[in-house]
Amino acid sequence: MRPTPRTARAALLACASLALMAYGLGAADIPRYLDPALPVEARIDDLMGRLTLDEKIAFVHGNGLFRSGGVPRLGVPALWMDDGPQGIRAETSLTSWAPTGQTDDYATALPPGCALSATWNTDLAQACGRVIGEEACMRAKNVLLGPGMNIVRTPLCGRNYDYFGEDPWLSGRIAVGYVRGLQAEDTVACVKHFALNNQEKDRGRINVEVDERALREIYLPAFEASVREAGALAIMGAYNKVRGEYCCQNAALLGGILKGEWGFKGAVISDWGATHDTSAAAAGGLDLEMGSGPKFDDYRLARAYRDGIQAGTYPLAQLDDKVRRNLRMLFASKGLGGRKPGSINTAEHRQVARKIAEESAVLLKNEGGLLPIDASKVRTIAVIGQDAVRTFAQGGNSAGVKAFHETTALEGIVVRALGSMNVVFSEGYRQPAVRWSAERDLAGVRKIEVTDVPADVARELSDRAVLAAKQADLVIVVAGLSHQSRGDDEGTDRVDLALPGHQAELIARVVEANPCTVVVLVNGSPVDMDPWLAKVPAVLEAWYGGSEGGNALAGILFGDASPSGKLPFTFPKALADTPAYQGGVRAYPGEAGTVHYDEGILVGYRWYDTKKIEPLFPFGYGLSYTSFGYSNLTVTPAGPDSAVVECDVTNTGARPGAEVVQLYVQDAHSKVQRPEKELKGFAKVALAPGEKKTVRMELSPRSFAYYSPEARGWRIEAGDFGILVGASSRDIRLKGSFGISGAASAD
Ligand code: BGC
Repeated sequence: MRPTPRTARAALLACASLALMAYGLGAADIPRYLDPALPVEARIDDLMGRLTLDEKIAFVHGNGLFRSGGVPRLGVPALWMDDGPQGIRAETSLTSWAPTGQTDDYATALPPGCALSATWNTDLAQACGRVIGEEACMRAKNVLLGPGMNIVRTPLCGRNYDYFGEDPWLSGRIAVGYVRGLQAEDTVACVKHFALNNQEKDRGRINVEVDERALREIYLPAFEASVREAGALAIMGAYNKVRGEYCCQNAALLGGILKGEWGFKGAVISDWGATHDTSAAAAGGLDLEMGSGPKFDDYRLARAYRDGIQAGTYPLAQLDDKVRRNLRMLFASKGLGGRKPGSINTAEHRQVARKIAEESAVLLKNEGGLLPIDASKVRTIAVIGQDAVRTFAQGGNSAGVKAFHETTALEGIVVRALGSMNVVFSEGYRQPAVRWSAERDLAGVRKIEVTDVPADVARELSDRAVLAAKQADLVIVVAGLSHQSRGDDEGTDRVDLALPGHQAELIARVVEANPCTVVVLVNGSPVDMDPWLAKVPAVLEAWYGGSEGGNALAGILFGDASPSGKLPFTFPKALADTPAYQGGVRAYPGEAGTVHYDEGILVGYRWYDTKKIEPLFPFGYGLSYTSFGYSNLTVTPAGPDSAVVECDVTNTGARPGAEVVQLYVQDAHSKVQRPEKELKGFAKVALAPGEKKTVRMELSPRSFAYYSPEARGWRIEAGDFGILVGASSRDIRLKGSFGISGAASAD
């Protein structure tokens, strides 16, 4: 039987009174802060009145690697945090990054941000948040350090895989879904890394110089949506500097934009070890300092801050504001009672992980309909590649999850083929060998040495794979990156787009030996496909699939589901084509400690489209086993500067499938620079063969606006805007227009 609110309240008060009796208080003295019937702010007011200065200070700095301090005297527990964002991280020691090695800290590994975003499915993003929230409750974590939503500015950034891609609208929609799901499960979302942490190289020191329009139009919208729409109650300050000041003490970003303009009521948590100065952090807007080492009293917001308050250097009201913000997280996550019990590694959680992996797969090429695998023709499949037998969930440093279970690609394929086909495996290549240093930096990142497999070993592996390929009816090469240096990894960037080791040569040899070759890519950022792409008939981008990755992949390969993912970032033909590459080292990775975002608002497809540079695969691209027809575009005004866009989508093929309908707005008449087009809406629609559905998307005033640094706000120019609806940024199927008669503000 579910408890009613009244019985729940009675139970909570009973528990609380028992706890307080231990401190000599009777049931009649139950304080207001423990009364769940009162509004949270009233409870916080009451608690604030009871705290000593030292107790207040305990809330604003770490008192454990992943927890701040509580107040045992008042029965107020510590606030527990954990990474994030792909599942609940394994337990570490209180004072170091050493794993505790316990056996009850396994969790479901959800596919990473790039994959979630590639689903273009906001309901799935919400389901992902819910799963992680339920597991956070079970593991007693109040705050989940995620989701991450830094924009993919360069394909080299080691952490692109953790983020939602290159577009602010897509990132924002996925972020809002995730945050809502998570917070519905009594778990606070700590959206990160605020802001402009777009490279891992020199992340702890680099200063970012960015123009105001790029900041507002490209890099901040996903954070803004998380805070204003989804009500995220925590945000993580990034390691880097912005315009000369570290992000965790950046008054313009934290006090001005976040708390001032956006009205953020939650807490700013520092990235681990990203706080540098007591006075700047305190005044700049930091509310909780984390990860500054094992001596918690030495933190900038610990003893030094308390002494400064006592000496009158810092106002008490400033500390009180920080404490209130921390308490909001504690109350929102029901830290004082009434929290959902949560659950972990359930069949339903695995199902969500699988659905995300399945819906994220992007079919990049499928000549001659090689996929799905034709069971009437294929007797023997050769699976080739070390990545087919590797697991990935635990890699990548902070985002790693000790997966309770993770299906490899080979396992998934073998299980699915069982009884109808033979599957042989050949390793084919090996990812470079990695040696980690014993020591970690404040962020827990270890130094690594990477060594390529010797040429003779690589040749032998490749010879054997070629032999296996020749004897098979179909070859599946599983290639890609991994969460290791020169891959998708925290703390380092890649140096080029190449597949590490000898993978490119191997694929070229295999497809020569057997033209029926499918390449499955396991990676979280764009990779080079020379010299093999032209020769390989089918390529599937599978990302990292989490707990159910192998099963989801097999489902797609065998046609149980049709691919319906679309690229959340552009795959460029060459590094030299990418926006951040243009300005030389000053634009990436920076010189003399500063990186200049010279490309301004032209990030991702905004760059390639505006500059007419042909990408390898464009943003929003992805094929299906079926085909879709678009018709009947209508654009109906919903106000002077808002509209409803509708069109019909028909499944014109023979298989069920889902299409992501993308809506781009074009402002060709502007007096300021505008990108060629910008994504402002999308909808994912599932269709049976022959079925037709009407898709509806809304355009708000913001969809037409640019940020005016002079006016310090969003402005719309009068005129006709192009309304472009299509299957990718480079496959526009329907065109219309929408006229705005008077200039307006969209603030
Ligand atoms: C990462 C954060 C993470 C934190 C705690 C840092 O290295 O940048 O994303 O939440 O460590 O593990």
